[in-house]
Amino acid sequence: MSVLVYVEQVEGKFKKSVFEAVSYAKAIADQQGTSLSAISIGNVADSELNELGKYGASKVLKVEADQLKNFVNQAYASVIAEAAQKEGANIIVLSNSFSGKGLAPRVAVKLKAGLVDGAVELPTTDGGFSVKKTAFSGKAFAIATLTSENKVIALNPNAFGVKENAASVTIETFSPEVKSSDLTAIVKEIVRATNKVSLPDAEVVVSGGRGLKGPENWGMVEELADLLGAATACSKPVSDADWRPHSEHVGQTGIAISPNLYIAIGISGAIQHLAGVSSSKVIVVINKDPEAPFFKVADYGIVGDAFEVVPKIIAALKAH
Ligand code: FAD
Repeated sequence: MSVLVYVEQVEGKFKKSVFEAVSYAKAIADQQGTSLSAISIGNVADSELNELGKYGASKVLKVEADQLKNFVNQAYASVIAEAAQKEGANIIVLSNSFSGKGLAPRVAVKLKAGLVDGAVELPTTDGGFSVKKTAFSGKAFAIATLTSENKVIALNPNAFGVKENAASVTIETFSPEVKSSDLTAIVKEIVRATNKVSLPDAEVVVSGGRGLKGPENWGMVEELADLLGAATACSKPVSDADWRPHSEHVGQTGIAISPNLYIAIGISGAIQHLAGVSSSKVIVVINKDPEAPFFKVADYGIVGDAFEVVPKIIAALKAH
């Protein structure tokens, strides 16, 4: 029995959410009195794989097959399941990222495992194996108890934190058979040139809504985000109107985030928007309508015109 964590790479690099998933998986391995292995698929330099040791992985299985260069749900799930069987791992941890959301249920089916997606805490093991998770698009929490021998857990980004726990790593090449039936999806790669902070991993997010009137006014949102080292996000109507890319849309039908600080500018706070952001640690709302629903869930609220308030915040940050 051991624990296996899938470490998703983007262009050969790991993001913060991966180190968080490794930290979380290591804590579970310690709970269970067992070791932690990681599986990496795609071309990643050994120096990057060695980084996983800082967070407690003692073995990394490296899969570099040409057919797996691009992410394909079905094929990656087969490889992860095969790695779990090879390692005798009965607990498999993934990040609940965009690709993790597709992989976790597929891996669970292949291993006849129970699944907890959206985990936010470590399992409790007294009287069963129970994990706290988000439910109903982040509007509530639930406790899921897994009774199956094999278990798959998809951890919400920013829920556990990155914890150093050094182990010495061995890197092992793993060459699973890749079935052509797993490679039927057509992969289209869209490369976006950006130096910006990635939204799911961001600790600070500055988000704009329809109150900003149009795409020409996003300069101040981006400037504030740059000053805070933050990612930018937006409400659904804003991305529907093409003021901002769909990758920035947060909420029930967009991505769910849980940064340490979420600054909402000119966003009303509709329930579908809150579904994706309400687990942020601190919420700051800037809205000219004192009755805006967002103020009910805000930790700090500024009632005022965004076009006056935001430039003042920017000026104050620049003055420090
Ligand atoms: P509005 O509702 O138009 O609010 C604009 C706000 O800006 C107002 O509160 C206003 O007071 C304020 N404002 C105006 N001018 C200023 C100013 N100068 N300074 C400061 N404040 C100002 N929405 C999402 O965001 N994410 C989702 O995932 C999502 N999924 C949905 C799924 C379904 C099935 C449905 C039905 C809806 C979904 N929606 C989603 C839409 C959601 O219901 C709201 O319509 C949407 O969130 C509103 O966006 P908004 O707050 O930007 O715009």
